[in-house]
Amino acid sequence: MGKLVIVGTMAFDAIETPFGKTDKILGGAATFIGLAASHFNVDTAAVSVVGGDFPQKYLDLLSDKNIDLSGVEIVKDGKTFFWSGRYHNDMNSRDTLATELNTLADFDPKVPDAYKDAEIVMLGNLHPLIQSSVLDQMTQKPKLSILDTMNFWMDSTLEDLLNVIKRVDVITINDEEARQLTGEYSLVLAARKIHAMGPKYVVLKKGEHGALLFHDEHVFYAPALPLEEVFDPTGAGDTFAGGFAGYLAKTGDLSFENMKNAIIYGSTLASFCVEKFGTERMVNLSSIEVHQRLMQFKQLTKFDIELTESQRA
Ligand code: AMP
Repeated sequence: MGKLVIVGTMAFDAIETPFGKTDKILGGAATFIGLAASHFNVDTAAVSVVGGDFPQKYLDLLSDKNIDLSGVEIVKDGKTFFWSGRYHNDMNSRDTLATELNTLADFDPKVPDAYKDAEIVMLGNLHPLIQSSVLDQMTQKPKLSILDTMNFWMDSTLEDLLNVIKRVDVITINDEEARQLTGEYSLVLAARKIHAMGPKYVVLKKGEHGALLFHDEHVFYAPALPLEEVFDPTGAGDTFAGGFAGYLAKTGDLSFENMKNAIIYGSTLASFCVEKFGTERMVNLSSIEVHQRLMQFKQLTKFDIELTESQRA
Protein backbone atom coordinates (compact mmCIF):
# COMPACT_ATOMS: atom_id res chain seq x y z
CA MET A 1 0.00 0.00 0.00
CA GLY A 2 1.42 3.38 -1.01
CA LYS A 3 1.21 6.90 0.28
CA LEU A 4 -0.85 9.42 -1.62
CA VAL A 5 -0.24 13.16 -1.95
CA ILE A 6 -3.08 15.32 -3.20
CA VAL A 7 -2.73 18.94 -4.24
CA GLY A 8 -5.68 21.06 -5.27
CA THR A 9 -8.01 23.82 -4.23
CA MET A 10 -10.04 23.88 -1.05
CA ALA A 11 -12.80 26.25 -1.84
CA PHE A 12 -16.10 27.93 -1.36
CA ASP A 13 -18.45 27.16 -4.25
CA ALA A 14 -21.74 28.81 -5.18
CA ILE A 15 -23.65 26.60 -7.58
CA GLU A 16 -26.75 27.00 -9.71
CA THR A 17 -28.40 24.02 -11.35
CA PRO A 18 -31.88 23.67 -12.87
CA PHE A 19 -32.89 22.24 -9.46
CA GLY A 20 -31.78 25.09 -7.25
CA LYS A 21 -28.88 27.17 -6.08
CA THR A 22 -26.55 27.31 -3.10
CA ASP A 23 -24.78 30.01 -1.14
CA LYS A 24 -21.11 29.44 -0.47
CA ILE A 25 -20.63 25.77 0.33
CA LEU A 26 -17.58 23.56 0.75
CA GLY A 27 -15.89 22.70 -2.54
CA GLY A 28 -12.53 22.53 -4.23
CA ALA A 29 -10.66 19.92 -6.18
CA ALA A 30 -8.55 18.67 -3.23
CA THR A 31 -11.68 18.37 -1.09
CA PHE A 32 -13.51 16.15 -3.56
CA ILE A 33 -10.37 14.13 -4.37
CA GLY A 34 -9.64 13.59 -0.68
CA LEU A 35 -13.18 12.52 0.17
CA ALA A 36 -13.14 9.97 -2.66
CA ALA A 37 -9.65 8.67 -1.89
CA SER A 38 -10.54 8.25 1.78
CA HIS A 39 -12.56 5.16 0.83
CA PHE A 40 -9.31 3.25 0.30
CA ASN A 41 -7.68 3.86 3.71
CA VAL A 42 -4.29 4.79 2.33
CA ASP A 43 -1.98 7.30 4.01
CA THR A 44 -3.12 10.51 2.37
CA ALA A 45 -1.95 14.10 2.70
CA ALA A 46 -3.60 17.14 1.16
CA VAL A 47 -1.55 20.16 0.08
CA SER A 48 -3.63 23.29 -0.27
CA VAL A 49 -4.32 26.78 1.04
CA VAL A 50 -7.34 28.44 2.64
CA GLY A 51 -8.10 31.80 4.21
CA GLY A 52 -9.04 32.65 7.78
CA ASP A 53 -12.66 32.54 6.61
CA PHE A 54 -12.53 28.77 6.05
CA PRO A 55 -14.56 27.13 8.84
CA GLN A 56 -12.70 24.81 11.19
CA LYS A 57 -15.56 22.31 10.80
CA TYR A 58 -14.59 21.80 7.14
CA LEU A 59 -11.01 21.03 8.14
CA ASP A 60 -12.28 18.69 10.85
CA LEU A 61 -14.47 16.93 8.34
CA LEU A 62 -11.41 16.13 6.23
CA SER A 63 -9.15 15.14 9.11
CA ASP A 64 -11.93 12.88 10.42
CA LYS A 65 -11.50 11.02 7.13
CA ASN A 66 -7.84 10.50 8.07
CA ILE A 67 -6.51 13.03 5.60
CA ASP A 68 -3.28 14.60 6.84
CA LEU A 69 -3.76 18.37 6.68
CA SER A 70 -0.28 19.46 7.77
CA GLY A 71 0.30 20.63 4.17
CA VAL A 72 -2.76 22.89 4.21
CA GLU A 73 -1.71 26.48 4.80
CA ILE A 74 -4.15 28.77 6.59
CA VAL A 75 -3.64 32.43 5.71
CA LYS A 76 -5.38 34.10 8.65
CA ASP A 77 -6.00 37.47 7.00
CA GLY A 78 -6.66 36.01 3.54
CA LYS A 79 -9.77 34.80 1.74
CA THR A 80 -10.39 31.26 0.52
CA PHE A 81 -10.53 30.47 -3.21
CA PHE A 82 -14.07 31.04 -4.51
CA TRP A 83 -15.72 29.54 -7.58
CA SER A 84 -19.22 29.97 -8.87
CA GLY A 85 -20.86 28.14 -11.75
CA ARG A 86 -24.21 27.67 -13.47
CA TYR A 87 -25.20 24.42 -15.16
CA HIS A 88 -27.17 24.27 -18.37
CA ASN A 89 -30.30 22.17 -18.63
CA ASP A 90 -28.38 19.13 -19.93
CA MET A 91 -26.27 19.22 -16.71
CA ASN A 92 -23.25 18.21 -18.78
CA SER A 93 -22.09 21.72 -19.52
CA ARG A 94 -21.73 24.77 -17.30
CA ASP A 95 -20.65 28.38 -17.32
CA THR A 96 -18.16 29.66 -14.78
CA LEU A 97 -19.63 32.82 -13.27
CA ALA A 98 -16.71 33.73 -11.02
CA THR A 99 -13.24 32.49 -10.14
CA GLU A 100 -11.60 34.40 -7.29
CA LEU A 101 -8.14 33.03 -6.63
CA ASN A 102 -7.66 34.95 -3.35
CA THR A 103 -5.05 33.10 -1.23
CA LEU A 104 -4.34 30.74 -4.12
CA ALA A 105 -2.73 33.61 -6.06
CA ASP A 106 0.40 33.63 -3.82
CA PHE A 107 0.34 30.06 -2.66
CA ASP A 108 3.71 28.37 -2.22
CA PRO A 109 2.86 24.68 -1.61
CA LYS A 110 4.75 22.66 1.00
CA VAL A 111 4.63 18.88 0.82
CA PRO A 112 4.91 17.47 4.39
CA ASP A 113 8.30 15.75 4.92
CA ALA A 114 6.69 12.40 5.68
CA TYR A 115 5.02 12.43 2.26
CA LYS A 116 7.94 13.47 0.08
CA ASP A 117 8.51 9.83 -0.83
CA ALA A 118 4.85 9.10 -1.66
CA GLU A 119 4.32 6.55 -4.41
CA ILE A 120 1.33 8.33 -5.92
CA VAL A 121 0.91 12.05 -6.49
CA MET A 122 -2.47 13.40 -7.54
CA LEU A 123 -2.09 16.89 -8.95
CA GLY A 124 -5.63 18.23 -8.75
CA ASN A 125 -6.87 21.22 -10.60
CA LEU A 126 -5.00 24.45 -9.75
CA HIS A 127 -2.20 26.63 -11.12
CA PRO A 128 0.25 24.47 -13.13
CA LEU A 129 3.25 26.08 -11.42
CA ILE A 130 1.91 24.87 -8.08
CA GLN A 131 1.47 21.40 -9.57
CA SER A 132 5.11 21.52 -10.81
CA SER A 133 6.38 22.71 -7.45
CA VAL A 134 4.82 19.69 -5.74
CA LEU A 135 6.62 17.36 -8.16
CA ASP A 136 9.89 19.25 -7.53
CA GLN A 137 9.59 18.63 -3.78
CA MET A 138 9.33 14.86 -4.04
CA THR A 139 12.59 13.27 -2.85
CA GLN A 140 12.07 10.27 -5.09
CA LYS A 141 10.20 10.10 -8.34
CA PRO A 142 6.63 8.97 -7.60
CA LYS A 143 5.65 5.63 -9.12
CA LEU A 144 2.68 7.39 -10.64
CA SER A 145 1.84 11.05 -11.08
CA ILE A 146 -1.67 11.99 -12.18
CA LEU A 147 -2.71 15.46 -13.32
CA ASP A 148 -6.13 17.00 -13.61
CA THR A 149 -6.72 20.47 -15.01
CA MET A 150 -9.37 22.61 -16.68
CA ASN A 151 -9.97 25.20 -19.40
CA PHE A 152 -9.31 28.09 -16.98
CA TRP A 153 -5.58 27.19 -16.90
CA MET A 154 -5.45 26.51 -20.64
CA ASP A 155 -6.78 30.02 -21.20
CA SER A 156 -4.58 31.77 -18.66
CA THR A 157 -1.25 29.93 -18.46
CA LEU A 158 -0.94 27.40 -21.26
CA GLU A 159 2.85 27.28 -21.39
CA ASP A 160 3.19 26.41 -17.69
CA LEU A 161 0.46 23.84 -18.12
CA LEU A 162 2.24 22.17 -21.05
CA ASN A 163 5.44 22.07 -18.99
CA VAL A 164 3.81 20.16 -16.15
CA ILE A 165 1.81 17.90 -18.49
CA LYS A 166 5.19 16.82 -19.91
CA ARG A 167 6.21 15.51 -16.47
CA VAL A 168 3.23 13.34 -15.51
CA ASP A 169 2.24 9.74 -16.25
CA VAL A 170 -1.53 10.16 -16.35
CA ILE A 171 -3.76 13.07 -17.30
CA THR A 172 -7.48 13.18 -16.53
CA ILE A 173 -9.46 15.86 -18.36
CA ASN A 174 -12.91 16.18 -19.80
CA ASP A 175 -13.71 15.80 -23.48
CA GLU A 176 -14.16 19.52 -24.19
CA GLU A 177 -10.89 20.35 -22.47
CA ALA A 178 -9.08 17.67 -24.50
CA ARG A 179 -10.47 19.25 -27.66
CA GLN A 180 -9.38 22.70 -26.53
CA LEU A 181 -5.90 21.48 -25.59
CA THR A 182 -5.28 19.70 -28.88
CA GLY A 183 -7.51 21.38 -31.45
CA GLU A 184 -8.80 17.90 -32.40
CA TYR A 185 -12.50 17.09 -32.42
CA SER A 186 -11.96 13.31 -32.50
CA LEU A 187 -11.18 12.13 -28.98
CA VAL A 188 -8.98 9.37 -30.37
CA LEU A 189 -6.83 11.92 -32.17
CA ALA A 190 -6.93 14.21 -29.14
CA ALA A 191 -5.69 11.39 -26.89
CA ARG A 192 -2.89 10.63 -29.36
CA LYS A 193 -1.77 14.27 -29.33
CA ILE A 194 -1.86 14.35 -25.52
CA HIS A 195 0.27 11.17 -25.42
CA ALA A 196 2.79 13.03 -27.55
CA MET A 197 2.82 15.84 -24.94
CA GLY A 198 4.09 13.39 -22.30
CA PRO A 199 1.48 11.36 -20.38
CA LYS A 200 1.51 7.62 -21.12
CA TYR A 201 -2.08 7.30 -19.98
CA VAL A 202 -4.88 9.64 -20.98
CA VAL A 203 -8.23 9.52 -19.21
CA LEU A 204 -11.00 11.43 -20.95
CA LYS A 205 -14.04 12.12 -18.79
CA LYS A 206 -17.31 12.48 -20.64
CA GLY A 207 -19.72 13.26 -17.80
CA GLU A 208 -22.88 11.19 -18.08
CA HIS A 209 -21.29 9.38 -21.03
CA GLY A 210 -18.58 7.75 -18.97
CA ALA A 211 -14.81 7.76 -19.31
CA LEU A 212 -12.18 6.52 -21.76
CA LEU A 213 -8.68 5.34 -20.87
CA PHE A 214 -6.06 5.47 -23.61
CA HIS A 215 -2.61 3.87 -23.45
CA ASP A 216 -0.60 3.47 -26.66
CA GLU A 217 -3.00 1.74 -29.01
CA HIS A 218 -5.15 0.33 -26.18
CA VAL A 219 -8.49 1.86 -25.23
CA PHE A 220 -10.85 1.03 -22.37
CA TYR A 221 -14.31 2.51 -21.95
CA ALA A 222 -16.42 2.64 -18.80
CA PRO A 223 -19.95 3.99 -19.00
CA ALA A 224 -21.40 6.20 -16.30
CA LEU A 225 -24.11 4.53 -14.29
CA PRO A 226 -27.49 5.73 -15.60
CA LEU A 227 -28.92 7.64 -12.64
CA GLU A 228 -32.46 8.68 -11.91
CA GLU A 229 -31.34 11.95 -10.45
CA VAL A 230 -28.41 14.12 -11.31
CA PHE A 231 -28.64 17.03 -8.96
CA ASP A 232 -25.25 18.77 -9.17
CA PRO A 233 -22.27 17.52 -11.21
CA THR A 234 -19.77 19.79 -9.41
CA GLY A 235 -16.77 17.80 -8.25
CA ALA A 236 -17.66 14.66 -10.18
CA GLY A 237 -14.43 14.89 -12.17
CA ASP A 238 -12.35 15.35 -9.02
CA THR A 239 -14.20 12.57 -7.26
CA PHE A 240 -13.48 10.32 -10.21
CA ALA A 241 -9.78 11.25 -10.02
CA GLY A 242 -9.72 10.66 -6.25
CA GLY A 243 -11.24 7.21 -6.66
CA PHE A 244 -8.82 6.40 -9.47
CA ALA A 245 -5.76 7.53 -7.49
CA GLY A 246 -6.94 6.02 -4.19
CA TYR A 247 -7.57 2.62 -5.73
CA LEU A 248 -4.14 2.56 -7.40
CA ALA A 249 -2.44 3.65 -4.17
CA LYS A 250 -4.25 0.91 -2.27
CA THR A 251 -3.47 -1.89 -4.71
CA GLY A 252 -0.01 -0.72 -5.81
CA ASP A 253 -0.60 -2.36 -9.18
CA LEU A 254 -0.05 0.23 -11.91
CA SER A 255 -0.71 -2.03 -14.90
CA PHE A 256 -3.13 -1.02 -17.64
CA GLU A 257 -5.40 -3.91 -16.57
CA ASN A 258 -5.61 -2.58 -13.01
CA MET A 259 -6.13 0.97 -14.25
CA LYS A 260 -9.36 -0.32 -15.77
CA ASN A 261 -10.51 -1.26 -12.27
CA ALA A 262 -9.41 2.14 -11.02
CA ILE A 263 -11.59 3.74 -13.69
CA ILE A 264 -14.56 1.70 -12.50
CA TYR A 265 -13.96 2.76 -8.88
CA GLY A 266 -13.61 6.37 -9.96
CA SER A 267 -16.85 6.20 -11.95
CA THR A 268 -18.68 4.52 -9.09
CA LEU A 269 -17.68 7.20 -6.58
CA ALA A 270 -18.47 9.99 -9.04
CA SER A 271 -21.96 8.56 -9.52
CA PHE A 272 -22.69 9.36 -5.86
CA CYS A 273 -21.17 12.82 -5.95
CA VAL A 274 -23.74 14.14 -8.45
CA GLU A 275 -26.74 13.08 -6.36
CA LYS A 276 -26.60 16.07 -3.99
CA PHE A 277 -25.18 19.58 -3.93
CA GLY A 278 -21.43 19.93 -3.45
CA THR A 279 -19.79 17.43 -1.11
CA GLU A 280 -23.02 16.55 0.73
CA ARG A 281 -23.40 13.05 -0.66
CA MET A 282 -19.73 12.16 -0.29
CA VAL A 283 -19.40 13.13 3.34
CA ASN A 284 -21.48 10.26 4.71
CA LEU A 285 -21.09 7.74 1.93
CA SER A 286 -20.70 4.23 3.35
CA SER A 287 -18.55 1.43 2.01
CA ILE A 288 -21.65 -0.77 1.74
CA GLU A 289 -23.25 1.73 -0.62
CA VAL A 290 -20.07 1.82 -2.70
CA HIS A 291 -19.96 -1.96 -2.83
CA GLN A 292 -23.59 -2.21 -3.91
CA ARG A 293 -23.07 0.28 -6.71
CA LEU A 294 -19.97 -1.54 -7.89
CA MET A 295 -22.16 -4.63 -8.24
CA GLN A 296 -24.64 -2.57 -10.28
CA PHE A 297 -21.76 -1.46 -12.47
CA LYS A 298 -20.73 -5.02 -13.07
CA GLN A 299 -24.27 -5.94 -14.07
CA LEU A 300 -24.51 -2.96 -16.38
CA THR A 301 -21.42 -3.84 -18.37
CA LYS A 302 -21.50 -7.64 -18.29
CA PHE A 303 -22.53 -9.59 -21.33
CA ASP A 304 -21.82 -13.01 -22.65
CA ILE A 305 -22.03 -13.02 -26.38
CA GLU A 306 -21.98 -16.19 -28.47
CA LEU A 307 -20.05 -15.61 -31.67
CA THR A 308 -21.64 -17.23 -34.72
CA GLU A 309 -19.54 -19.32 -37.12
CA SER A 310 -19.19 -16.53 -39.64
CA GLN A 311 -18.06 -14.05 -36.98
CA ARG A 312 -15.46 -16.48 -35.65
CA ALA A 313 -13.92 -16.99 -39.09
P1 AMP B 1 -15.17 19.60 -11.28
O1 AMP B 1 -16.65 19.74 -11.29
O2 AMP B 1 -14.69 18.21 -11.04
O3 AMP B 1 -14.53 20.25 -12.46
O4 AMP B 1 -14.62 20.41 -10.03
C1 AMP B 1 -15.29 21.51 -9.47
C2 AMP B 1 -14.44 22.06 -8.34
O5 AMP B 1 -13.29 22.66 -8.90
C3 AMP B 1 -15.17 23.12 -7.57
O6 AMP B 1 -15.36 22.66 -6.25
C4 AMP B 1 -14.29 24.37 -7.63
O7 AMP B 1 -14.05 24.94 -6.38
C5 AMP B 1 -13.00 23.87 -8.23
N1 AMP B 1 -12.51 24.81 -9.25
C6 AMP B 1 -13.23 25.54 -10.15
N2 AMP B 1 -12.43 26.28 -10.93
C7 AMP B 1 -11.16 26.04 -10.53
C8 AMP B 1 -9.87 26.50 -10.94
N3 AMP B 1 -9.72 27.39 -11.92
N4 AMP B 1 -8.80 25.99 -10.31
C9 AMP B 1 -8.92 25.09 -9.32
N5 AMP B 1 -10.10 24.62 -8.87
C10 AMP B 1 -11.21 25.08 -9.46
